[in-house]
Amino acid sequence: RTVYVNGEYLPETEAKVSIFDRGFLMADGVYEVTSVLGGKLIDFEGHLKRLERSLSELDMDKPEGFDNLLEIHRELVRLNGIEEGMIYLQVTRGASGDRDFAFPDPAVTKPTLVLFTQNKPGLAANPVAQKGIKVISIEDIRWGRRDIKTVQLLYPSMGKMMAKKAGCDDAWMVEDGAVTEGTSNNAYIVKGNRIITRQLSNDILHGITRAAVLRFAREAQMEVEERAFTIAEAQDADEAFITSASTFVMPVVEIDGAKVGTGTPGKVAARLREIYLDESLKAAV
Ligand code: PLP
Repeated sequence: RTVYVNGEYLPETEAKVSIFDRGFLMADGVYEVTSVLGGKLIDFEGHLKRLERSLSELDMDKPEGFDNLLEIHRELVRLNGIEEGMIYLQVTRGASGDRDFAFPDPAVTKPTLVLFTQNKPGLAANPVAQKGIKVISIEDIRWGRRDIKTVQLLYPSMGKMMAKKAGCDDAWMVEDGAVTEGTSNNAYIVKGNRIITRQLSNDILHGITRAAVLRFAREAQMEVEERAFTIAEAQDADEAFITSASTFVMPVVEIDGAKVGTGTPGKVAARLREIYLDESLKAAV
C-alpha cells in the first residue's frame, strides 16, 4: 500500500514519523475518515470543513498540503486502486524534539500530515445492514470537547471491547442518564415517522453523515427531532440506528439485551440507508 506522509507518497514500510511527535506522546492530533464508493469520495467537503474546525479549536496550524487535500485523497485512491473503502487522514502538532506539555512554537514545529487508504470491497453492500447490530450501554467518561475529532480514542476502544466481551457489536455512551453517541458513530431512535437524535453541542461529534442523513430525512418529509433520549426510551422505540462515514446508516436491533421493535432492522433505517447511499454517491467527488 502507498501512503502519504508530509508531502511524499511512499510504500507503507518506508513511511516514518518521529517518536517525539505529539500525536504519539500526547494524543495531540485530529483526524478524519472519508469513505470511498465507486472510486469517489463521499462527503469530502464536509470532512474538510470539520478538519479545519478541529485544527482551529486546538490552535493547530494547517499542515503543508492542506490546500491540496482533495488531490492527495484522489491520488491515494488511484495509487491503491480503491473502489470501496476509506481514507484515514491525521494531523498532529508535530515533533519539537523534546517532550513538553506546552505547545511548541508553531514557527519552528510543523504539523505532521499522514493519510492512508483502507480497502473494503463490499462496503456499501455490507450484509450486516440486513441483520443489524447489538449494542450495550456504558457510562460516557470521555473529555468535554467531543465536538473536536481528536485521536484520543482509548475510551471508545475500551467501550468497543466491553461490547465484544458482552457478545455485542458496539457501545452507546450515556451521560446524566441520556445517550450521547456510539463509540464511533452517532445514535438515533425512531418512533413512528419521527427520527430522534441528540442535539449538537460539545457533548458529541458533529457527524458528517449525521448532517447528510438528517437533511435527506427532512427532504423525504420525515420528522426530525434533535434532543437527548434515554436507554429506556431507545429500548421502547420502534427502531434504532447509527450513522458514520464507514457504516453509513446501520440498524441497531438490540440494546442491553432488549430487542428494539421486532428485533430486526426497521423500515426507516433501511430507507435512510438507501437514500444516503444513492444521494451521496451522486454527489461524490
Ligand atoms: N461520533 C463519534 C464519537 C465518532 O468517532 C464518529 C466517527 O468516527 C461519529 C460520531 C460519526 O461521524 P461521521 O459521520 O462524520 O463519520
